[in-house]
Amino acid sequence: VREAGGDNIVSLSNATHKAINRKSIIEKRLLLALDQQNLKVFYQPQVDIHTGKILAVEALVRWEDDQIGVVKPEELIPIAEETGLINNIGTFVIEEACKQAVKWHKEGLDLKVTINLSVREFRDKNMAKSILTTLENTQCPAKLIQIEITEKFALEAEAETSIIKQMRQLEEEGIVFILDDFGTGYASFRYMQLLPIETLKIDQTFIQSLLQSEKAQRLIHGMVQFGKSMNLTVLAEGVETKEQQQLLQEYGCDAIQGYLISKPVAEDVITKLMVSSVN
Ligand code: C2E
Ligand code: CA
Ligand code: CA
Ligand code: CA
Repeated sequence: VREAGGDNIVSLSNATHKAINRKSIIEKRLLLALDQQNLKVFYQPQVDIHTGKILAVEALVRWEDDQIGVVKPEELIPIAEETGLINNIGTFVIEEACKQAVKWHKEGLDLKVTINLSVREFRDKNMAKSILTTLENTQCPAKLIQIEITEKFALEAEAETSIIKQMRQLEEEGIVFILDDFGTGYASFRYMQLLPIETLKIDQTFIQSLLQSEKAQRLIHGMVQFGKSMNLTVLAEGVETKEQQQLLQEYGCDAIQGYLISKPVAEDVITKLMVSSVN
């Protein structure tokens, strides 16, 4: 790239160039997808470790674009956060989740829906209010909704009174907060005192290491005990094997989520899973 009028040549590597290009394509297509409601939400069960009963499902955004194909959340979410479109994704997912929660509720299925929110979304001073408005508009009882925030979020929220206030406001209405990705390196235990967290979700990287060493086992056992000693519900994510489940159960973990139970699936599959487990 030769800058106009200058003689200094800014040469971007081919890879950088491609990445920038891809990002701007995703941004454009995402705007369109949001406009045309082309995003979808899949749901993954969070089950009682003892009974296998589905307690809640985590809403995870899915996007397959006509032109660029499937864009995975791990690529989509960072770009959306950078461009601010995460707020639009959030609005969409929250509304979908509330509508679906109400639908299940009306079908007599006892099931909560968990949504993921990023710190960027809570920087909007009206976030809590807009969530409460969505609950009202969809006639969704607050107790059906849980919100996952990441440990990174917690660290940043600690310094921002307005975020803490909004979280407390939502908690007072009956919404439960789950601390996602627990243990991934932003450990500052102060947020435990400041934020209204009800559940600790042990990050899947720990669960993946569970069967590899005794050291890993002691670490994860300690994490579960820590959560229990704080009177929190402990949930483990990324549970793929029966062996992992058994160890976690021995440690006193309350709930699990992962491929052992189910991958994220469309809502009708959840309905079938629920109905077959009720009967
Ligand atoms: P997360 O919140 O930590 O979600 C867990 C991820 O692990 C999901 O990936 C899920 O499909 C995957 N997973 C679940 N069980 C297993 C398992 O047993 N083994 C393995 N290997 N993986 C498992 P997904 O759906 O691709 O989402 C990736 C990340 O994108 C999420 O991580 C979350 O941080 C973000 N994300 C997804 N949807 C949303 C959304 O609507 N809003 C926001 N802010 N973030 C979202
Ligand atoms: Ca999550
Ligand atoms: Ca997680
Ligand atoms: Ca994660």
